[in-house]
Amino acid sequence: MNQTVYMDHNATSPTRPQAVDAVMRAMKVNGNPSSVHSQGRKARRLVEDAREQVRAAVNAAKSAQIVFTSCGTEANTLALQGCDRAKAFIGATEHPSVLGACGAFEIERILVDGNGLIDPFKLEEMFAGGGDDVIVSVMLANNETGVLQQVEGIARMAHRYDALVHCDAVQALGKVDVDFTTLGVDMMSLSAHKIGGPLGIGALIATKDVKLTAINRGGGQENGVRGGTENVPGIVGFGVAAELAKAELTDMARVQDLRDRLESRLLHIAPDATVIASMADRLPNTSFISMAGVDAETQIMALDLAGICLSAGSACASGKTKTSVVLNAMGVPQDVAQCAVRVSLGHTSTEDDIEHFISAWCDLYQRKHAAKSAA
Ligand code: PLP
Repeated sequence: MNQTVYMDHNATSPTRPQAVDAVMRAMKVNGNPSSVHSQGRKARRLVEDAREQVRAAVNAAKSAQIVFTSCGTEANTLALQGCDRAKAFIGATEHPSVLGACGAFEIERILVDGNGLIDPFKLEEMFAGGGDDVIVSVMLANNETGVLQQVEGIARMAHRYDALVHCDAVQALGKVDVDFTTLGVDMMSLSAHKIGGPLGIGALIATKDVKLTAINRGGGQENGVRGGTENVPGIVGFGVAAELAKAELTDMARVQDLRDRLESRLLHIAPDATVIASMADRLPNTSFISMAGVDAETQIMALDLAGICLSAGSACASGKTKTSVVLNAMGVPQDVAQCAVRVSLGHTSTEDDIEHFISAWCDLYQRKHAAKSAA
């Protein structure tokens, strides 16, 4: 079996050919965007055009700050460490890069319900119990389950307590409409490689009123907020991918149809399987599905042998298939959690991919069940 089926778009989404072309063209511009000569000005133009593409992709105001960073992790770090707040209220299912950014200051986790959704009453109680000088960080879409948080309502409430609100929208961009202005948040993190742009480039969007302090001071680039010569080819590829991700959002209806068919076929064949948070509002491309009695590591290895690429959960934690912190926070029983693998589809996914996956998954399911009955 030579077919490779890529179902790990939440880990990284294959680079779009238009982004590859744009990166290659930008690599031939031999100027530093801070140089005043013609080649420098050419590079600067590329950076500013891409900044506009990223701004437009999330409908941020013209006045918003768009700071290019080396990745989504750095954008989260800049948001949390650069905002000069004393305390952070952080969703219990946030990406490790958010938690990791909070080293120096006081953190309180915001509890989630069985679907992974933040309970607004719990957040309100946290404010009532000492909510001065706070930054709230809540993701728009969870990388493992795809569950979408009610960020708009959370931001409205947090602003009543003068909190700053940061939203990690790394997984949401390109899969659902991400509107910085409508969400009403103060800061938002993005990453290019989740939308078919290059790896190693991200952005922090902030309203003009947020006072950001650089973590990387260096030469004062990015308006003094992120020192270091800009990654011009990466930034250009990000701009192109952001524009395409927005323009091709309609393709997500096709992707959702593939995902829904996959789930219903698996549940038909294996009624003891569980789709995590199946009743919650989720990203259209993500399915976190547990095959009863077969641990995630075994599934990933067996599916890999069948040419299928997927993860047990967060890509950062995959490779080491530990039980998911996200599922623990949601109170998913241990036996279900340890048998869950994440299927994440995207712009390259086809019906053939789904058929191939269903056949390999069912083959494994039937083999495991036959072995259990024989034992
Ligand atoms: N936030 C979320 C929700 C993610 O899923 C990821 C990556 O998996 C990140 C942040 C980090 O992004 P990057 O890989 O660009 O550092």
